[in-house]
Amino acid sequence: MAYDQNNIFARILRGDLPCKKAFENEHVLAFHDIRPLAPVHVLVIPKGAYTSLDDFHEKASEAEQAALMKAIGQVARQAGVAAGGYRVIANTGGDGHQEVPHLHFHVLGGRPLGRMIGRPE
Ligand code: AMP
Repeated sequence: MAYDQNNIFARILRGDLPCKKAFENEHVLAFHDIRPLAPVHVLVIPKGAYTSLDDFHEKASEAEQAALMKAIGQVARQAGVAAGGYRVIANTGGDGHQEVPHLHFHVLGGRPLGRMIGRPE
């Protein structure tokens, strides 16, 4: 899938749309989800134009990949959920119900999150 330069997170990265920033470095931006599903719900994204985890693994440099992984841990610690526990989710593609086509990790915590996913009916 070609990268859509006008997806919401690309616009946030360009500064065209505001975000509530939680963390930033050379390779990564993290900001609070606009519709939080838990007391802590932060999205961690690479600054590079990658649609999904597959795309990222294929094209991103080792430095970008390491920075993203490290940032997830830093965000969790900074948000105060590292000790109590949290969940990291990367919805990917159609079956994964990915809505925004720019790779992002959800960091969720601050309450018991229950089972990972519901069982099919
Ligand atoms: P996903 O279904 O994994 O693609 O999740 C996309 C997430 O982006 C959802 O949790 C949305 O609430 C969130 N979202 C959409 N627009 C914004 C925005 N402008 N700022 C912050 N989060 C957003």
